Amino acid sequence: MKKIVVISGAGISAESGISTFRDSDGLWRKHRFEDLASPKGWKNNPELVLEFYNQRRKQLFDVHENAAHKALKLLEEKYKVVVITQNVDDLHERAGSSNVIHLHGELKKARSTADERLVYELKDWALNMGDKCELGSQLRPHIVWFGESVPMFDVALKEMHDADIILVIGTSLVVYPAASLIHCGPPNAKIFIIDPKAQDFNNDKIISIKQKAGTAVPELVEKLLNNNYE
Ligand code: NAD
Repeated sequence: MKKIVVISGAGISAESGISTFRDSDGLWRKHRFEDLASPKGWKNNPELVLEFYNQRRKQLFDVHENAAHKALKLLEEKYKVVVITQNVDDLHERAGSSNVIHLHGELKKARSTADERLVYELKDWALNMGDKCELGSQLRPHIVWFGESVPMFDVALKEMHDADIILVIGTSLVVYPAASLIHCGPPNAKIFIIDPKAQDFNNDKIISIKQKAGTAVPELVEKLLNNNYE
């Protein structure tokens, strides 16, 4: 069975109604990321940070997986599929994808500020000051903030090594180390990039599809299922 590794970013969830960070209506345009998504921001104003992620989490209850997430699940009929996502939403899981690696954490989880191995599923959208882990320390969002290490990176990197096909969907490829993954597949792996703002590449190994994921991913998946993608 051939293996497909999907590298997804905020763009795959845009048509579900979740803002990306860097497009014109992106979240970073309304807030300073240092205040919301860094250890310093957390130290200075944990209430603001919790509120920011509470609003993001609350939104998750109102949105649904879209045609792109659903199409990726269908690939599992014919391929071994691993999804490496920078997204903190759970739309790949809701679409049924069985093997999802979250590089930057998960909105619906919280973790201890005393021991990062203590991670908890949140049953509701609100995480508040005073919500504590079993050791008695404040819980924080289970999100990899700017300046923090990316513990799942090595797991993701290992998955790249035997990929036959790599699908890169809806990511600006500017956040490292996630962006470096695209270059870590075998030299003969075929790479498809789906993003309206995808860069042009002058070789037949990398194919840029400058369209929205909701249209382009189902079309490409159909071709992949029919072995008709060369
Ligand atoms: P980004 O905001 O930097 O880039 C989004 C990319 O998606 C852009 O290149 C844009 O052209 C493209 N895009 C927009 N609409 C699209 C569509 N309909 N179909 C396909 N592509 C589309 O996002 P990124 O590269 O994932 O940035 C990284 C950070 O953003 C990650 O750390 C991630 O955790 C965070 N983030 C996650 C979510 C989420 O979980 N849904 C939302 C916003 C930001």
